Amino acid sequence: MTAEIICVGTELLLGDILNTNARFLSRELAALGFDVLHQQVVGDNAARLEETVRAALGRSDLLVFSGGLGPTADDLTKETVARCFGDEMRFEPKVLESIRAFFTSTGRTTPANNEKQAMVPTKGGWFENPNGTAPAVWFESGGKRAVLLPGPPSELEPLWKNAVRPFLQKGQHRVLESLVLRLTGIGESHAEELLGHLFKNENPTAAVYAKTSELLIRITAAAPDEQTARAVCRGYAQNFYRLAGEYIYAEGEEGLEYALVSALRQKGLTLATAESCTGGLVSQLVTNVPGASEVFGFGFVTYANEAKQKLLGVSGQALAKHGAVSPQVAAAMAAGAARAAGADVAVALTGIAGPGGGTPEKPVGLVYMGAARGGQVLVKRLDLGNRDRATIRLAAAKNALDAARRLALGLPIPGAVNARDIPD
Ligand code: AMP
Ligand code: MG
Repeated sequence: MTAEIICVGTELLLGDILNTNARFLSRELAALGFDVLHQQVVGDNAARLEETVRAALGRSDLLVFSGGLGPTADDLTKETVARCFGDEMRFEPKVLESIRAFFTSTGRTTPANNEKQAMVPTKGGWFENPNGTAPAVWFESGGKRAVLLPGPPSELEPLWKNAVRPFLQKGQHRVLESLVLRLTGIGESHAEELLGHLFKNENPTAAVYAKTSELLIRITAAAPDEQTARAVCRGYAQNFYRLAGEYIYAEGEEGLEYALVSALRQKGLTLATAESCTGGLVSQLVTNVPGASEVFGFGFVTYANEAKQKLLGVSGQALAKHGAVSPQVAAAMAAGAARAAGADVAVALTGIAGPGGGTPEKPVGLVYMGAARGGQVLVKRLDLGNRDRATIRLAAAKNALDAARRLALGLPIPGAVNARDIPD
């Protein structure tokens, strides 16, 4: 079954709000086994909306609308879709009652124009909206269906979960389930070489998405029920584990910072960070994880040379001789952070985030990472490329998260050298 999403609202076309409903509905419809082939945005204009609905009816089995169910004159989705489905609206006293109850519960009286929202389809049906005034409605004709939802996500999402999803599920004999594998330390082209053949499968499908310093592989299976779909995903995931298991750090939606905090917790270790070019980004990411305080207490932001000396004990001599962006200083920062914090594991970053400040010897995107655990200090040179400042900083931070995770788990850090082997 094919589905199409139509979001109504001039504010969307003007870019005033982000179309988060389209994203929500796309994911939800896919999980129900619908093939979502089109997403559209149309302004609050009856003629253009009607044109959009007729085109959608010509190609999709299910039309899902968001927005345009408000009480004002520019909210005209219901009337327009009713016309296209050969249905008519009728007044439903029960809806008016619940609208009145909604206003009373929020200490207000019901404005006259809200009565318009009590109109429901004659042949189709409606779902009560406990979080607002506009009910959701549906139409059906000639094997095609339309579901109309109010625009505010705080109303749309509960209505979807509690009423619309169960309603649509009844007619579906297929579900989709996804499994996400998260990889780091492998680039997109290397992944293509190693795993390319696995992305050409029909069911399950597998697709790769590149994020800064990470790759996500989404495996999606269609099956008659959730349990079977999950088993198919799991079976197919084994191919990825066999060929690229060393790069897979987690499954699901949670990123490197979650994997790091969980590794530290599991091993009973604490972390400290010392950041120059990332200005605290690593500690921000770590503290995004609820419960990070169990494993993380000290994040040093040492932007100036003076700060590196005062807080981390980096020697003035090393700074003068090698410069702040050097393997020697990265190593001293990591060792100094571990010492000052009394932490088991420490990571440090010093580099050139650009756009200015690069030289032929030390170009924009050059970052040195120090990583210390139990007296051992490792250093890795990261060449993050001449990219924008935000991307370089994020890439550096993610490398540090992964390095700390590896130290915590006792895994090697590929490409890192022992600080002892670097000349003073
Ligand atoms: P409406 O149902 O058209 O009265 O929508 C009212 C409000 O819902 C808008 O002002 C937005 O704040 C929100 N909204 C409408 N459409 C969307 C959408 N596609 N994504 C996210 N929010 C939306
Ligand atoms: Mg609107």
